[in-house]
Amino acid sequence: MSGLDKYEKITDIGKGSFGCVSKIKRKADGKVLVWKELNYGKMSEKEKQMIVSEVNILRELNHPNIVRYYDRIIDRDQAKIYIVMEYCEGGDIATLIKNYKRKKEHLPEEIVWSVLSQMLQALSSCHNRKEGKILHRDLKPGNIFLDKSNNVKLGDFGLSRVMNQDSVFAYTHVGTPYYMSPEQINDQKYNEKSDIWSTGCIIYEVAALRAPFEATTHYQLAMKIKSGKLDRIPAMYTDDLWRVITSMIQQDPERRPSVDELQNHPQIQVRVKEYK
Ligand code: ADP
Ligand code: MG
Repeated sequence: MSGLDKYEKITDIGKGSFGCVSKIKRKADGKVLVWKELNYGKMSEKEKQMIVSEVNILRELNHPNIVRYYDRIIDRDQAKIYIVMEYCEGGDIATLIKNYKRKKEHLPEEIVWSVLSQMLQALSSCHNRKEGKILHRDLKPGNIFLDKSNNVKLGDFGLSRVMNQDSVFAYTHVGTPYYMSPEQINDQKYNEKSDIWSTGCIIYEVAALRAPFEATTHYQLAMKIKSGKLDRIPAMYTDDLWRVITSMIQQDPERRPSVDELQNHPQIQVRVKEYK
């Protein structure tokens, strides 16, 4: 047996671009986790490589604001890989945004700062990693999760390393790249500041309940992103929050603040937890 027998499936949660995610129970101690089931039989070499990359990156990351990796099981008979991860009971931020939109309510500013601050803590641990920095490269609301205590967790480092060779537009299953930076559109080097751009776009969306740049075609979207024109977030939010968001969504990557600079902002500093 490959190790699958150590877990028991509770229920299916959803289907992603590569496979199903299910809620499971570890038989040894009853701990509730999830696994992502990936059928590698039908995958191209490129896709297989992306999975190996996702797993390798995940297992190296150990931070309270990053979805924790537990185990990997290979079932050769069925050509499946199961990646066992922390269960994030609160679902993802894309769903949170959708629910608020439906209720026609906005999130309290306090929550917006808290999401930003926790995302920065996760990014800080990746960007300032002793063993070499890791860039997320696919930050979007659907890849940011909430646990049962509403802690924010970054997930899906899947595309982190393999993405850089090709233009994002080449990846059909990645979906509309709303959070893609101008330098990615221009096929320039992806760097830490590109993660900052995407984070700014996500925080904008958490506040405005819509992405900062919207379009129906990739071309239109690219034009809007490069124009840099932004509507202000709703009036209920402070100028302070608006200023931080606009600083992150600047065309010139050099002018965007780094994670460290952002963490010095008073509203973020008060929310930074010490993790030792
Ligand atoms: P995608 O490929 O679109 O990013 P995923 O395969 O990552 O999709 O996720 C599929 C579904 O499972 C989504 O609804 C997502 O919210 C959910 N999900 C993924 N990982 C977890 C997790 N660790 N805890 C709880 N739900 C998760
Ligand atoms: Mg995902």
